[in-house]
Formats: sequence, C-alpha cells, structure tokens
Amino acid sequence: MKLDRLLAKHESMGRNRARARILAGQVRLDGVETRRFDHEVDRFTRVELEEVVIQIPERQLHVMLHKPVGVVSATSDAEHPTVIDLIDDPDRATLHLVGRLDRNTSGMVLLTNDGRWSKVLMDPAKKVPKVYRVQTRDPIPPEAVAAFAEGFYFHTENLVTKPAKLEIIGEREARLTLHEGRYHQIKRMFHRIDNRVTGLHREQIGTLALSADLGPGEWRLLSKEEAAACA
Ligand code: URA
Repeated sequence: MKLDRLLAKHESMGRNRARARILAGQVRLDGVETRRFDHEVDRFTRVELEEVVIQIPERQLHVMLHKPVGVVSATSDAEHPTVIDLIDDPDRATLHLVGRLDRNTSGMVLLTNDGRWSKVLMDPAKKVPKVYRVQTRDPIPPEAVAAFAEGFYFHTENLVTKPAKLEIIGEREARLTLHEGRYHQIKRMFHRIDNRVTGLHREQIGTLALSADLGPGEWRLLSKEEAAACA
C-alpha cells in the first residue's frame, strides 16, 4: 500500500493531509525519515508518525529446511507429517511453501510469509535454477547429457522441457540443474531415457545452497541479506 494511503486509513485523515505530513518530514519508516508519499509500504515495515507507531511490523520469515524423505511438502496432510510440523516457531502457521518436493525426495525447501519473495522465486520468467543430486537404477550414458540439454516432450502438458544441465558424477549418479519445476519432472525425464530415479535430493535454489550443518528435519531462518540475494 502507498504510504499516503496507509497514513490516511490509519489516522482517519484525508489523502492531502496525509501527504502534507509526509512532506513535512513527520513520518519514519523503520526509523528512517521519508518524504516520499508514494513509497510502497508492506506489513513488515514499522511506520511512525512523529513519535506514534501507527503500524507495528509483522515478523518477516524466510525459512530454509532440510526435508527428509517421508515428509510431505504441504502445510497440512491427513496421513503424513508435513514440513510445517518440523518447524517449531510460534509463527509457523503464517508460512507457505516456495515450491514443493515429492514425498520421497529430500533436500532444500524454502518457506516464507512474504508473498513478494515467493512470487519472485517461483516466477517462471526468472528461471531460478534448482540443483538436484540424482541416483539412478541403471548407469547413466554420456548421451544423456545432450538429451537433457535438448529437452523432452511432455505429452500431458504439450511442452518441451527447458534445457537442463546434467553432469554425470558417478556411474549411477548425476547432478541436474533445472530452470523450471514440472510435476515429477526429474523422474519423468529419466523415465524417458529408460532409467529410473532411486534417490533425489535438492542441493540448491538460486544462489542458496542447503547449509551443510542442517541435518534432515532441521531448519533455520535466513538473514535478510541471504533472502535478498537469492530472489
Ligand atoms: N522432480 C521430481 O521428479 N521430483 C521432485 O521432488 C523434484 C523434481
């Protein structure tokens, strides 16, 4: 919401009066004076008019979690434990997921109560890279690298997958970087080369790597700087 509108609403004053007070330097955002009445203010910003706090900021949460196999990427589930069950924070009910992993996939999941952050990370146009370590039933042939780079036609969605980077790191192990997230995408890609995924783990989203000190089921809050750097 624009600052002049927020002020007018909270203080029951006209928009012109609100603008006049902003222009007079009477308003501070997170302790810093502003004279810009068109400033976009979110619910995480402290707003003061002279010495009176007119908006108490909500806690802004950006969570990195190491999802173990067997836990569902959802906020509630009738049968299985969810990622939310693992987060012992008083504000966990405000969180939503920034993308999902299958129940039998492990690795990095991000959660937040900041809709703008999740929207940027999930915007298909931004093509935020996601890096996975994949184990397979059969050996991965060198030709698979070109096949993943070229893309696979997915009949159900009638599309060709975006170029993906496959690095073969063992006979039955690879690191795969995707710039999109289709339903069971990696399992379907390996199925197309007559192979089968036996283990899948997400190591990285954008510039954020899963912290080495986070064991399965553990989580931590990201700093403002970490959150800003990856979105
Ligand atoms: N691709 C899959 O097949 N499963 C996941 O959990 C993530 C990507």
